[in-house]
Amino acid sequence: TATTTPLAQRSAEELEAFAQEQQQAYAALKARGLSLDLTRGKPAAAQLDLADDLLSLPKGVKDAAGVDTRNYGGLEGIRELREMFAELLWVEPEQVVAGGNSSLVMMRDVLVDLWLHGGVDSERPWSQEEKVTFICPVPGYDRHFTLLDWFGIEMVTVPMHDDGPDVEAVAQLVASDPTIKGMWLVPTYANPSGSVVSQEIAARLASMPTAAPDFKIFWDNAYAFHHLTEEEAKSADILTLAAASGHPHRPIMFASTSKITLAGAGVAFLAGSVETVKWYTGHLGKGAIGPDKVNQLRHSQFFGSPQGVRDHMVKHREIIAPKFAEVERILTERLGGLGVATWTRPTGGYFVSLDVLDGTASRVVALAKDAGIALTPAGASFPHGDDPRDRTIRLAPTFPPLDQVSEAMEAVATCVLLAAVEQVRG
Ligand code: PLP
Repeated sequence: TATTTPLAQRSAEELEAFAQEQQQAYAALKARGLSLDLTRGKPAAAQLDLADDLLSLPKGVKDAAGVDTRNYGGLEGIRELREMFAELLWVEPEQVVAGGNSSLVMMRDVLVDLWLHGGVDSERPWSQEEKVTFICPVPGYDRHFTLLDWFGIEMVTVPMHDDGPDVEAVAQLVASDPTIKGMWLVPTYANPSGSVVSQEIAARLASMPTAAPDFKIFWDNAYAFHHLTEEEAKSADILTLAAASGHPHRPIMFASTSKITLAGAGVAFLAGSVETVKWYTGHLGKGAIGPDKVNQLRHSQFFGSPQGVRDHMVKHREIIAPKFAEVERILTERLGGLGVATWTRPTGGYFVSLDVLDGTASRVVALAKDAGIALTPAGASFPHGDDPRDRTIRLAPTFPPLDQVSEAMEAVATCVLLAAVEQVRG
């Protein structure tokens, strides 16, 4: 049998032989006693090293407006950094807040504020609604889903395609169901699919009629600048699109420098209508006197300009693009043509999404674990950890050094093949 005949077309004897090969390969893999980890999308140490100069900044303590950054105040963040990221995110400086070290915390804060007080266009606090539902494109980011679950917010899924969520399904859901108050969206190089929301889909999301008057798009642009190729995807300008179609308060945008400078000590951003920004800082002010402006100042000096951010991202690309190429090479060489898996070929972001045969993702993850390779739990990219087809596995190749990415991916391929032949033989 040619090595590329799909498993489904092989005879019982051929499958038997193939199964034996895979069992031997897996036994050999286990005997190596590896300890590798492809679970979380963290920057590698070499990427963090790119931001070393931050550690000797800021020079001076005053920002461009003459504000002493060491003192309290300035909830919305220092002006020059808001301007820098406003340009990068295609919004006006008044529409941006520069905050603390985590955009995920900002997302949680926004949900808390909506829950306790409602948004600028709400009739009542969300906690006083009988039920609140969110649309979750899948596969998606596990922390988005656990955050909603913590509120008791219900989740309905729609498929995520290459050009964004299934917008027909979204439009239908929001048109008739007033409990649907929002949706998640990672518009650029999505976690984990790598999808980039097209201009057309963004325009439809911005303009679609919704039964809830205060429907929100949580536009989590965590990977806005994280290109893996020279062809840089441009995020749709959702704030302008929404304002132009009469829904200026619908999108709330988030971003951060977690994967630009330091994942634990970056700066996070929120953007929305000017009213949304005022609403957010108004609530923020009940528990904060101001952000870490010293960190904001050193970020502003470190980058120097919006172009400084873009230039910095090229250095990241040089470190991580070879790791993604290795994932692609090994998956193609080991699994191509066998009809046992499909996977994404992201042009940016931090993840590859691997779809194995239905019903085998948890088996693959378990086999990998027994061989010493930690993979993100099967189902993690779905609400409640429940992948109804048990087929999607998120691969995160940025953190390990290149040689470990190769070793881990060879191991993953072995586990996929073994689980597939078990399934096909029945
Ligand atoms: N949003 C997405 C889609 C992510 O993948 C991540 C991190 O993996 C975050 C947000 C976290 O962002 P931050 O570090 O700014 O809290």
